[in-house]
Amino acid sequence: MMIYRTLGNRGAEIPAVGLGTWEVGGRDIPDKSRDREHIETISRAIEMGYTHIDTAEYYGGGHTEELIGEAISVFSREELFITSKVWPSHLQRASLHEALDGTLQRLRTDYLDLYLIHWPNPDVPLEETLSAMSDEVQNGRVRFIGVSNFDTPLLEKAVAVSREPIVNNQVLFNIDDRLAMNELLPYCQTQGITMTAYSPLRRNAVKTSTEKLLKELASKYSASIQQIMLAWLLGKDGVVVIPKASKLEHLRSNLEAASIVLDQEDVRMLDALK
Ligand code: NAP
Repeated sequence: MMIYRTLGNRGAEIPAVGLGTWEVGGRDIPDKSRDREHIETISRAIEMGYTHIDTAEYYGGGHTEELIGEAISVFSREELFITSKVWPSHLQRASLHEALDGTLQRLRTDYLDLYLIHWPNPDVPLEETLSAMSDEVQNGRVRFIGVSNFDTPLLEKAVAVSREPIVNNQVLFNIDDRLAMNELLPYCQTQGITMTAYSPLRRNAVKTSTEKLLKELASKYSASIQQIMLAWLLGKDGVVVIPKASKLEHLRSNLEAASIVLDQEDVRMLDALK
């Protein structure tokens, strides 16, 4: 069963479990050696119930968006929620419009559900970038805008200067990397900004000390440690997760993690981990 988070103030929603796509079809340059396999994985994921796909123009030097574009072309666009991100070197007005042209073309769609600034760039005024992004909302090429890798002061600034509401901040957040929990998450929660947790499985490398508790809980809930990691994140107000998976059993089990509700006491123990 998919759970959703409210996005913005117009009654829209974002699926709380999305599909990450970093390193699908290359890191920063295209790797076309496994195209068929990647397209197949994305298609199976959608058939399984994933409707939210996270990507970026940077991924695979644009090739990741191309693979997604091919995979989604046979599905109904309105049922999907596609997020992409603009790279820091494209944050000036003209570059941003051009970058979005490329993203939409590669994804074979005429709009994005969510467009994010991938990383801040202090050399370009935030006002300029957010104004260009807000124009794209008015043009109908983007439904919602947001940011990624913004700390609290920078997010506050974005909220203050943007014409369109900032509805999402995508940041590193998992059981071991939890800086986002201290100040940023409470701020997002009070502002009604969803927080997307990236690398929610810590790229499969949790600390040994964390693993011990995760294993105990996995056994208690008849779940995997990865499911406990996702369930812990999903138990927090306004948090969305975007695990990347290529194995079908991983895709399925990550989706099912949304149904696991951890007891308060277990949440407290996980929250208290150092
Ligand atoms: P991740 O999702 O934490 O971990 C992915 C790894 O976990 C893969 O090796 C995958 O293996 C494995 N895995 C997935 N499900 C599993 C399961 N149920 N059991 C065991 N292993 C499992 O790492 P990530 O790719 O860094 O982060 C997720 C997404 O966040 C990215 O793909 C990207 O879309 C986004 N991201 C954004 C930023 C940013 O700056 N905004 C930065 C990093 C990432 P298999 O592939 O073999 O299934």
